[in-house]
Amino acid sequence: MARWRNWAGSVTVAPTTISTPRSVDELQLTIKRAAPGQRVRMAGSGHSFTPIVPSNDILLLPHDFGDGVGIDSDRMIARVPAGMVLHDLNQHLAAAGYALANMGDITAQTVAGSISTSTHGTGLRYTGLAGQVAGFGLVTANGDLIECNARENADVWRLGRVGLGALGILTHVDMRIVPAFRLRAIEEPRRLHDVLDNFDEIIESADHFEFYWVPHTKWALTKHNTRTQEPASPRSPRAKWLSKTVLENYAFGVVCAVGRAVPSLIPRLATALPSSGRQGFTEESHEVFATRRLVRFHEMEYSIPRHRLPEALSAIVEMVEREKLRISFPVEVRVTAADDVPLSTSQGRESAYIAVHMYKGMPYEEYFRHVESIVAPMNGRPHWGKIHFQGAETLRSQYQHFADFTALRERLDPERRFVNGYVERVLGL
Ligand SMILES: Cc1cc2nc3c(=O)[nH]c(=O)nc-3n(C[C@H](O)[C@H](O)[C@H](O)COP(=O)(O)OP(=O)(O)OC[C@H]3O[C@@H](n4cnc5c(N)ncnc54)[C@H](O)[C@@H]3O)c2cc1C
Repeated sequence: MARWRNWAGSVTVAPTTISTPRSVDELQLTIKRAAPGQRVRMAGSGHSFTPIVPSNDILLLPHDFGDGVGIDSDRMIARVPAGMVLHDLNQHLAAAGYALANMGDITAQTVAGSISTSTHGTGLRYTGLAGQVAGFGLVTANGDLIECNARENADVWRLGRVGLGALGILTHVDMRIVPAFRLRAIEEPRRLHDVLDNFDEIIESADHFEFYWVPHTKWALTKHNTRTQEPASPRSPRAKWLSKTVLENYAFGVVCAVGRAVPSLIPRLATALPSSGRQGFTEESHEVFATRRLVRFHEMEYSIPRHRLPEALSAIVEMVEREKLRISFPVEVRVTAADDVPLSTSQGRESAYIAVHMYKGMPYEEYFRHVESIVAPMNGRPHWGKIHFQGAETLRSQYQHFADFTALRERLDPERRFVNGYVERVLGL
């Protein structure tokens, strides 16, 4: 029997049918022909850590339908096949002189998968990807295809930009685009207390700032990216390979593997990470935003109101020492603008994000539960695609329009065709 597994290897499923619709017509037929009671889910690239994708009945795999990317330069909107991966979208946009305004740190995800879980990057003036969605096509439970944007089916568009795959299958997504730009990147280690003491000032003045606290040290690895039209001054291919592939992946992977074999060595190994030195370069935005991740891990990430970040991170630093945890993966901090997407983790507020990771094969639950107990009470909202331990009872109060979303889901799909166990848990069905 064919099986599907996610990138992290933590979610496996053997549905009755796995198929890849190669056109919108084929997709509609699949939905129409599904037997009563059969559940249908569409996978993206499987980069979610939560069991948000699986169906035991019909699992659909993405395809770009061969449609290509259509650019409307008057409206600054790109029509993108929902199953296209961000890497390919970036190439299409760059070739035409455009870019996405902001994105996360990898480009392996599909466009539909990214927006469906509220995927985001960093930058206090920029929203996550769902906030850049001007419209989409959706195949609903009865197999109809509807256009959703600010003028047509506006309620479905408003609520469905982060949809958890629970409203139907997205066929295309209209993404807002901007003229291509470059980023001047400065990457350097800084004292953690220096970053936390000046956090508000740093994130307010930077276009894109993020940092990684290295557990068991007083150091933060910072990345500060400034938007520019200045000519590129790229890293040499060798320097880039050395820094992004060798140091951030192979060498880091070895450090993690040694730490997994002998956890007591982790604090000593951690002191090697901040010694990477200062780097500066200017490259096309999508080259700077995203990197390759070859080391496998499990991850939890929470959004909190951005002014609570120093307090939350200080509590995590204290907890790691108090509980004598051994953590080989840096803790990542990012920020985004507020947006108006009902199930977005930044809905209605500027947010700071804290992401904790554990190397594959190491137990993560104790660490993640401790972190969750610190950030959830701070109006914390877990990333829908990353591990967390919450259900609808607690999530409902964090989202002003939660009931609107569940009412729309009920109206569009009363037979629960697009519902799975994870969706039941987080929406309280
Ligand atoms: C190495 C790594 C780095 C990451 N970096 C970031 C980051 O920087 N920022 C961040 O916020 N997150 C990040 N993530 C999380 C990731 O962006 C999200 O989990 C995202 O949802 C994955 O996209 P995907 O294409 O793999 O979708 P999947 O995980 O396969 O699916 C996610 C959801 O989308 C739904 N879906 C997919 N296609 C469709 C469709 N056509 N119609 C309707 N629903 C659909 C699925 O049913 C599911 O509900 C990272 C994950 C990994 C493993």
